[in-house]
Amino acid sequence: MNEKQQLRVRKIKEGTVIDHIPAGKALLVLKILNITGEEGVVIAVVMNVESRKLGKKDIVKIEGRFLRMEELNKISLIAPTATINIIKDFKVYSKQRVSIPEKIKGILKCSNPSCITNQDREPVESSFTIISKTPLKVKCDYCDQIMVQKDIVLQLTGI
Ligand SMILES: [Zn+2]
Repeated sequence: MNEKQQLRVRKIKEGTVIDHIPAGKALLVLKILNITGEEGVVIAVVMNVESRKLGKKDIVKIEGRFLRMEELNKISLIAPTATINIIKDFKVYSKQRVSIPEKIKGILKCSNPSCITNQDREPVESSFTIISKTPLKVKCDYCDQIMVQKDIVLQLTGI
């Protein structure tokens, strides 16, 4: 980003900047985090800005919010190129890339209704193995049900 583009969004004092989101996916990231804008905190969404790495990218800045591992894992499924910057006192305190975990446990629901992970009584925690990262494709460890990117995005965001 050049200086002019950086000025478009003011710096946050404390919180999280999610950078290098694939262009057009910022709103999905907000959905994953259950952010509606009614929380009253400063949220900045910048979409389709130039990126040396990605061509175009989105950026989300959230004041006063730090992300849990489960949220990072969800973001990795939809925005695998994202970098997470923790901001403290207006400075980048730490920076990390999200990474798609080898096994996805507990955050996705198997789309096979008769899967053991969907039983009402004593359900087993869901567990999926990544078959392909781009496009995303996962397989249920219990019933071998395949879920693709579209199913996963719909489940995580309702979009
Ligand atoms: Zn299953």
